[in-house]
Amino acid sequence: MKRAVIYLRVSTTKQTEGASLETQQMTCQDWASRNQVLVEKIYHDDGVSAKTLDRPAMKEMLSYLESNKGKVSYVVTYQTDRLTRNAADFFALRATLSQIGVEYKNINSSLEESINDELIQGIEAVLAQHDNKVKSVRVRDNMKRHAKEGYRMSKAPHGLKNVRDVLGKSTLAPMEGVGDKVTAILEAYATGAYTVASLLTLCEEIGLQTASGKPMKIQIISKMLRNPTYAGLEQSAHTDGQLIPSRFKGVITPTVFYRNQDLLRKNKNSAAKYKRNNPEFPLRRFLDCSNCHKPITGSSPRSGSGKPSPRYHCSRCKVPSINPQELHEQFLHLLASLAPDPGMEKFLKEVIVRVWREETQTLSTQQKRLHKALEELTERKTKVIEMLVSGEITPEEKRGLTTKINEESDATEKQLASVGSMSRLKTDTIDYALQFMSNAPRIWSNASIEHQIIYQRLVFPEGLEYDLAKNEFGTSKLSRLYRLATIKKDPSFSDESHLVTPRRVELLLPG
Ligand SMILES: [Zn+2]
Repeated sequence: MKRAVIYLRVSTTKQTEGASLETQQMTCQDWASRNQVLVEKIYHDDGVSAKTLDRPAMKEMLSYLESNKGKVSYVVTYQTDRLTRNAADFFALRATLSQIGVEYKNINSSLEESINDELIQGIEAVLAQHDNKVKSVRVRDNMKRHAKEGYRMSKAPHGLKNVRDVLGKSTLAPMEGVGDKVTAILEAYATGAYTVASLLTLCEEIGLQTASGKPMKIQIISKMLRNPTYAGLEQSAHTDGQLIPSRFKGVITPTVFYRNQDLLRKNKNSAAKYKRNNPEFPLRRFLDCSNCHKPITGSSPRSGSGKPSPRYHCSRCKVPSINPQELHEQFLHLLASLAPDPGMEKFLKEVIVRVWREETQTLSTQQKRLHKALEELTERKTKVIEMLVSGEITPEEKRGLTTKINEESDATEKQLASVGSMSRLKTDTIDYALQFMSNAPRIWSNASIEHQIIYQRLVFPEGLEYDLAKNEFGTSKLSRLYRLATIKKDPSFSDESHLVTPRRVELLLPG
């Protein structure tokens, strides 16, 4: 039986936000019993911040693990932020643990990456959040085609459910007992007699709750009012942001939907008060004023003529404010300037694969053997495709060969899983991340406010400084993949990146 230690942390002794010590402990122990792992010790740091690793229980745990090398297989935490909030510490800690044969388990995440890049993890999170089955360009194109035909390519919004039509294609249907309530709320707003906030009372009266059975929230209603899906319309990245008729006929008419959009626009100022993420200001709280280092805010005061004039500004400093459009344009230029050089994608991928290979060196011989076998199988698969393309084999022969290779890969992966492996290199995710880097300006400008906020953090994990007086961005820490991309562009760029050691940087420079 494998052994584990649990590490818990609360930032205040009376934790009000996030999971309590009890919840963390219970969840971790539950994970251990489900996975037949024996919990040997439980460590907890109470009322300490995760900014440094200088914590009593953390130190005690590390010294215990070191002196009991080989006995303990896992350090289990409720969430990565319990362990540390500092990416550099996280990588260092993970390296230390792996040296003494301990694997880090974050039970609230399926993201167990060998390549622990913020960008890749972030992209994974976005994909997971979407329940997105995007696996390759081919699949993506396929989804796009389906979406343009009006089929549903993502999770149903509240009150609707994902179903298949007679042809077996994805579409939506009202959820019994909920769909009609959604209709009632959306139609009520269209009368103009309600504010978004006053719809809450109506929800209570007719018994419309959130998907998890809790009292309705303003943010959710506000999202529902803006969601064209209820009117039998689709709009997503798959439709290139265009509104197109859905196969699903909707629970309200498009007229009601458009009327609601008008009302929302008119009531924008009151709605904005309740909306945490105001779509007008995606860069709010992401940009810091370079003068006082406090977050830049956004608001829409009325100008002399009574028209709202949205501005980003610093509420502390006497510096000019800036029009959002202008600032967004500057931000898009910045993103575009960070895009890797053409030809860089392949190079970046090679770097990631190389680092991944080096990490696998620390694995046991058996794991190494299995990883190698998997790599070979992947190469064989590529060869088979090449042979098909060059006409050396028929499609039928290709099918036979790939089936055999797939069976072998499955068997190898099963073995690998049974010896407890580090996760497989997620090449699809890496491809997606690289694609994101090359197309970030377009992706960012077409994304919803929620995703804009995620995406901009993927590029600048620590936010970005902006000088309102000079109208320019300050220097800022870039995500690792981006830092790598910069190396090639500027050979003088010296960077103590976690991913590449100087030796490897040299290897990568054009020469
Ligand atoms: Zn300021």
